[in-house]
Amino acid sequence: MDVRKPIIAGNWKMNCIIDEALVLANEINRAFVDENSCDVVLCPPFTALLEVSEVLTDSNVSLGAQNMHWEAQGAYTGETSAPMLIDTGCKYVIIGHSERRQFFAETNATVNKKIKAAMQNKLIPIVCVGETLAERESNKTFNVIKEQVLGAFAGISNIDASNVVLAYEPVWAIGTGKNATSKQAEEVHLFIRNLMAELYGREIADSIRIQYGGSVKAENVEELMKEKDIDGALVGGASLKANSFIEIIRKSIKAKKSA
Ligand code: PEP
Repeated sequence: MDVRKPIIAGNWKMNCIIDEALVLANEINRAFVDENSCDVVLCPPFTALLEVSEVLTDSNVSLGAQNMHWEAQGAYTGETSAPMLIDTGCKYVIIGHSERRQFFAETNATVNKKIKAAMQNKLIPIVCVGETLAERESNKTFNVIKEQVLGAFAGISNIDASNVVLAYEPVWAIGTGKNATSKQAEEVHLFIRNLMAELYGREIADSIRIQYGGSVKAENVEELMKEKDIDGALVGGASLKANSFIEIIRKSIKAKKSA
């Protein structure tokens, strides 16, 4: 039986000034303040973390950040550390998003350091992996995913690994409106789960939640969530409108219940 609790996270990226963030967070929070059957996570920009955190006080909706540095403090101009995120009330942090890899030189090695720092500070990392279109078209998807997963988890203990959330996000599906089909996504999710089983054993692999990300919307989420190894979604664009994000979460819960 599938006992993994679904997890839907909204990655707001570089959107929402504080007033906008408050409106969005309040609307979503009202809908899921007492939600028990699904973990809901909001990842606003750094500038709105504290205010959104206040909205989520005593709520089952959690706060997440979109990135962090691996050092706790120091001369790293413009960076934010895990203790700083904890200080604002964050429970989760997205690590290794493809936009960080593409535009900010994030590598598997920095992803690995960040996961370790997140774990030391009791933040739950949402670790993103995914292939580009060129890599998919040249049949390199599984090699790329394997390299990213092995790099990310190097030296990570069983206990820490069991607390990580993974997100499979094909780069060609992010922000393009072209999502992976449920079969394409499930194939990679199963591959990732089997890889985790090789690294950490079947029991831990079966307990790890793997989200799908890439043009998730209310119209396609049910089909994706019906797949056995898809445990949630990391949602970009469609998380910026309360109605569409709320619908995505409701449909995800429904799909998992009937799967
Ligand atoms: C993302 O930012 O992680 C993402 C999946 O974006 P979108 O839903 O807009 O494709």
